[in-house]
Amino acid sequence: MKTVIYNGKAYIHRGHFEQAILISDGLIEKVGTNEEVLAFAPEECEKIDANGKTILPGINDAHLHLGFIGEFLVLADLSNARSINEVVQCGKRFMQENPEAVKYGLHGIGWNQDYFTDEKRIINRHDLDLISTEIPIVFERVCGHIVSSNTKAIEMAGITDQTPQFDGGVFEIGEDGQPNGIFNENAVYEIIKTIPSWTAEELQQLYIRAIEYAVSVGLTSVQSNDVRDNNYKEIFALLHKLYDEGKMLLRYRHQFSFLKLENFKKFLESEFKNGKYDNKVLALGPLKLFKDGSLGARTGLMRHEYLDDPGNNGVASLSDEQMDELCGLAVENGIQVVTHVIGDAAIDQTITNYERSMKNGKNLLRHGVVHCQITDLPILERIAMLDILAMVQPIFLNYDLHVVESRVGKKLASTSYAFHTLDKLNAHVAYGTDAPVESCNPFPNIYSAVVRKDLAGFPEGGFYPEECVDVEQAIDHYTIGSAYAEFQEDVKGRIQPGYYADLIILERDIFTIPVDEIKDIKVVMTMMGGKVVYQK
Ligand SMILES: [Zn+2]
Repeated sequence: MKTVIYNGKAYIHRGHFEQAILISDGLIEKVGTNEEVLAFAPEECEKIDANGKTILPGINDAHLHLGFIGEFLVLADLSNARSINEVVQCGKRFMQENPEAVKYGLHGIGWNQDYFTDEKRIINRHDLDLISTEIPIVFERVCGHIVSSNTKAIEMAGITDQTPQFDGGVFEIGEDGQPNGIFNENAVYEIIKTIPSWTAEELQQLYIRAIEYAVSVGLTSVQSNDVRDNNYKEIFALLHKLYDEGKMLLRYRHQFSFLKLENFKKFLESEFKNGKYDNKVLALGPLKLFKDGSLGARTGLMRHEYLDDPGNNGVASLSDEQMDELCGLAVENGIQVVTHVIGDAAIDQTITNYERSMKNGKNLLRHGVVHCQITDLPILERIAMLDILAMVQPIFLNYDLHVVESRVGKKLASTSYAFHTLDKLNAHVAYGTDAPVESCNPFPNIYSAVVRKDLAGFPEGGFYPEECVDVEQAIDHYTIGSAYAEFQEDVKGRIQPGYYADLIILERDIFTIPVDEIKDIKVVMTMMGGKVVYQK
């Protein structure tokens, strides 16, 4: 079956557009003017009139969490709470409105103390006990690196003032000498466990909702971190089922995480070897490690103490030795490594770990740094020189531009989120959103890279505007750049003969509208492998 899309403005590469695309068996066969392509297309083929609209390669999000996007749609949403009292009210309301969902516990997500107008402090068990003392409550901070819980959850987790601290994570002790309900980094898993997990059927529904949302905003590929430690059998089974049932509307590449080396080893012996993958829709990807925490939670690992929290340098979730061991094992098995790094110390140390794992100083496995936020020029130069992938989320500026200077000072802030410098240094860059930390909608993300303002348009001239990139560059990082991150740049990320027919048609022309309006662009059609998977 062949399809022609004609009468469009298809982005081929910088400065080059074409009107029409011929698609055959899920691949792009020909691009050119309407006359050229229509003359070439068989009479009976399906014809789609693009009505002059702009066509882009499908967006490829280089790092997100697809399952959590689904969960976000059903957990108590705390992202609009502007005070501790509002968090409490939000929790109470959710319990009243969803009595079935909270039978065994209340799981909320999205609060951010920097947005609180009463006290800008982390919520604790005393706050959450106001919602309920009967069921466990865990409320994740927007970044997921801090979780607050009520007294019931702490009891269920069996944590007391006598419990030893966890490896790479902390539960706080309050003034009364008892755990105060605040958990960070690796300790968060211990408390989240008190809430029963989804049934396989519920989980599948969450993925379906997430996938449908993702294609509706223009994603045709995701590089997703859903495997965490020992849930790989469950996640693999689920994704294969969706695929077999034709519900995998986008291409999915795993980023798999392990907290324990033994679990990574077990995985290498089982699912990693045996999972059935055709590489076109479902693919195995890199080992995803977590080196540090988040800027918002002040757990990103810094070379200097936080200016607004003297004595605190952040948290190293993995030691240097652990990093070397994990990277070594990955490389031995030919596996790429990508690592969550926020602070300058985390980035610098991780690059050193990578460097030690490379053969002949070449980054052949395309190891990457995910987030890569707090940088100075020497770090950026090291990234470029060693050809380490920078997998960045420009949309993080929406929140971070309000706090980064107070956390690390103006000087370091001015060389952080340095998107243009990365381009000048010719680094390999891939864009993503880390959804659901931010929405997986790519247009606010492109807007952030291009104008460097928050979603309300602040600051007027942009935040360190010399680091703005242009629209073409942002789109390239989000398509061919992300494809490079998964060794797919020969088949994904361009509208070109031989490439997958993964493309989107936009309601408005991203190349000519005022840049401040890019964030509001809607998708009218999404096509994956020549099939229309979303239509407005
Ligand atoms: Zn993430």
